[in-house]
Amino acid sequence: MSDESLLLNAIERVANAHPGRVAFRAPGARDVTYDELWGMSSRIAAALAGSVDGRDPVCVICDKSALSVAAFLGCLRAGHAFVPVDIAMPDARIRGIVAQLEGSPVLQATQGADPVELSGVTVRDAAALVEGVPARPADEAERARWVRGEQTQYIIFTSGSTGTPKGIEVTANDIGNFMAWMQGFPVVRDGGVTFIDQASYSFDLSEYQLVGALSTGGCLFALPPQVTGDYRALFEALASSGANAWVSTPSFADLCLVDPSFSQELLPGLRLFLFCGEALHHTTASALMERFPAARVVNTYGPTESTVAVTYCEVGHADLDDPRPLQVGTPRSGTQIRIVDPETGARLGRGETGEIVIVGDTVAKGYINLPEKTAESFFDASELGEHVRGYHTGDLGHLDEMGRLHCEGRMDDLVKLNGFRIELGDVERNLEALPAVDQAAVVTVKRGGVTRALKAFVVVNAAAPKGQTTPAALKAQLGERVPAYMVPRTIKVLDSMPLNANNKIDRAALKGK
Ligand code: AMP
Repeated sequence: MSDESLLLNAIERVANAHPGRVAFRAPGARDVTYDELWGMSSRIAAALAGSVDGRDPVCVICDKSALSVAAFLGCLRAGHAFVPVDIAMPDARIRGIVAQLEGSPVLQATQGADPVELSGVTVRDAAALVEGVPARPADEAERARWVRGEQTQYIIFTSGSTGTPKGIEVTANDIGNFMAWMQGFPVVRDGGVTFIDQASYSFDLSEYQLVGALSTGGCLFALPPQVTGDYRALFEALASSGANAWVSTPSFADLCLVDPSFSQELLPGLRLFLFCGEALHHTTASALMERFPAARVVNTYGPTESTVAVTYCEVGHADLDDPRPLQVGTPRSGTQIRIVDPETGARLGRGETGEIVIVGDTVAKGYINLPEKTAESFFDASELGEHVRGYHTGDLGHLDEMGRLHCEGRMDDLVKLNGFRIELGDVERNLEALPAVDQAAVVTVKRGGVTRALKAFVVVNAAAPKGQTTPAALKAQLGERVPAYMVPRTIKVLDSMPLNANNKIDRAALKGK
């Protein structure tokens, strides 16, 4: 793949052609132009080039700020993959990620947040690092270091069933191919449009707006958690956003739809809703189509392991009339969707349900430093083209007679709660790591077929002090190990776990408790 298809190149072109155009806007903050963003990233790149060895990945503690975006670009310009880690993540989880990266340097690139202190880890402050470093246009020497080709562009850590998050290595080629696809989307292809920037940069959903906006001269309109957590602030921000494109999980749109003012009047320029990450339900799609007559509602599907999304479908009225769950569309060119028998691996035909396997030129390299786990799920498919790989998603689904993909749930214990990807085993192992807990099991609470909450059951250690074994105390301790969205809504203490005939925890019995 040529350098022309690099995200960095695309952004540099915009910065040169439209230096004064706004790249990043946040409620209550000063606008940041392309010139400024590109300049900030050059200073971060220069500072990194002078202080970080080789091509080690750089862990970037981030928030919704232009500084975080500049830090990602600065890493790429200095030849390093970036590892976005949201500042909201507990320290213990961040330390675990740094340890998995074998002591990767950590850069804090947040706006106004207190400095993060991680015992045993040096955290560099991006703002201080670049003080006095002049912004410079990219020269040949810098350009030669840029992350490209099969080098890793970013590593996104996602919930792991062993209790430790796993890092997915996405290459510059993967992102370049994804970018080429996304630039053809309606509205995005017009260029210069404003994207709602809500999903945390530590989730790959955010690549939709980062790549979509910055590679086409568009603007990111940031919705930080302090804004999304306050309805009035959120709606004021939306009203002032001038947004044309919306990216979120369906769950976030549902949250906004609760307010009747969430409509085209509030967002007159909105022309595209782009969803991914969990099932889009009829109720959500139809409410949006009714309230936003000028906008298209697009459902896309894909895991982080294949760079954001690989199928696309614009929801039409015929889809809404069909009572079956909404289809997720047809694959992008460059991606093949196969349905295989989970037991034998044999290819299945149209209409038959099996495991969804993605084969294509946006499939990630694998899980960093986990060769066995990578070999279990990823495979080489270079017979189909350069750098083509395959990935067993663990999702069940079928292709219909028109070649459209329908998702039918998971083969394992991975769940989506409010759009967040959670391995139930991750929560269980982290509960069991608490000194007061001997055994833990976590089940989902569903309503209308949708996961609404997690419920944990624990057997506590008889010797543990009583104050440590109350549900509130257990939740607080767990919250120091896992992100807030992984802490179950309820934790029940049991005398013993119910067992089934095979002496395994009887999860069906737990669901009834
Ligand atoms: P993530 O890596 O967080 O994007 O999560 C990927 C998983 O989310 C997939 O393997 C699916 O289980 C689920 N998913 C993603 N997009 C959709 C969709 N449009 N409909 C249903 N499930 C989806």
